[in-house]
Amino acid sequence: MPAPELSCLVVDDDHFMLKTLDVLLTQIGVPNILTSDNAQDALKHIANQNNRIDIIISDLNMPGMDGIQLLRHLGGLGVPIGIILVSGEDPRLVQSVRTLGEAFDLKVLGTLGKPVSKTDLEQLITDFEPTADAPPTGPAAMVFADELKAAITNKELTVNYQPQISISDGRLVGVEALARWNHPIKGQISPTIFVGIAEKYNMIQDLTTHIFGEAIAQVGLWRSQGFDINLSVNFSAQSLTQLDMPEMIYETLQGTSLRPNNLTIEITESTLAEDISIALDILTRMRLKGFGLSIDDFGTGFSSLEQLQQIPFTELKVDRSFVHNAHANRACQAILESSIELTKRLDIVSVAEGVEDEIDFKLVKALGCDIVQGFYFAKPMAPEKFVPWSREYSTKLMKNN
Ligand SMILES: [Mg+2]
Repeated sequence: MPAPELSCLVVDDDHFMLKTLDVLLTQIGVPNILTSDNAQDALKHIANQNNRIDIIISDLNMPGMDGIQLLRHLGGLGVPIGIILVSGEDPRLVQSVRTLGEAFDLKVLGTLGKPVSKTDLEQLITDFEPTADAPPTGPAAMVFADELKAAITNKELTVNYQPQISISDGRLVGVEALARWNHPIKGQISPTIFVGIAEKYNMIQDLTTHIFGEAIAQVGLWRSQGFDINLSVNFSAQSLTQLDMPEMIYETLQGTSLRPNNLTIEITESTLAEDISIALDILTRMRLKGFGLSIDDFGTGFSSLEQLQQIPFTELKVDRSFVHNAHANRACQAILESSIELTKRLDIVSVAEGVEDEIDFKLVKALGCDIVQGFYFAKPMAPEKFVPWSREYSTKLMKNN
């Protein structure tokens, strides 16, 4: 089911397509649907304060302002709208538009080919979690930043955990810690927004320390209860500026049941481009201390291969956009396949994110991937759900073997 109150705006110059999407969205149960046959009008809809728009479903090739120009305008507005691209163009072209959208700081939910599959559309719409209003800019932004600061201090930020499964034997091998902020008034605020604010207002160090501390304590507890699992934590490249960070992490592990080799630090490649020398110093010493290093969202950044050569990564995480539905997209499948091939040559671990259904799972398995993460096994979950989930999972696993 889509979120209640969800509101979608469809932009396509083809009236038949507009009608089709309108019908599909109604069938899916989206309560508010707006349509527009050109991008200029779409922008007017968005600018209208009375319209709240959560998702824009846009065609790429339109006369007048095209889909890319529309994305650029939306990026400039800084509003947290989800974008779904619909296009009959070459999948590789659509993929680059998607990357471009992400570079504009837009939340690209996914791409759909023409004719649009109702199941795929429904999946994208259902997975979408409406976020709180966009962070205001100017003086108001400081209020928001202050709220985040208070939230960090008051420990309003929580951690969810997404299981990681070993493909060879189906065993649960680890969890990725994911930060969540449930704002008392505004509700769930997307990590894309609050991590961005934390980076901008110099709070990323505090945020990372808080999330890291929580996750270490929690996974340490699970390990002492007999769960032999590793922990992966995301590190913003901006938090890789403090030279004593490897020592600090090492200290945090003392007294817990986690050894350095149970911990993997995930670094998003696109953010690593700045100030490579300090980051490299820190990352190399993290590796020396025995922590795992993972290159996150692989394939979406710009200098992946160079970074793979410079930094002693132990793991490569293929971005979800190359995993889910890869069987239906030759370009995605080629990238997925070569990324996994690359990990074998470099003798590092491959992780596929975004494994959402059996077809995705069968494909990554056939390609020889090591570890999977995705809705097919489990969504990120609150800590209290983890033990019941893993009990149920291991019972199912034993039955199947
Ligand atoms: Mg990650």
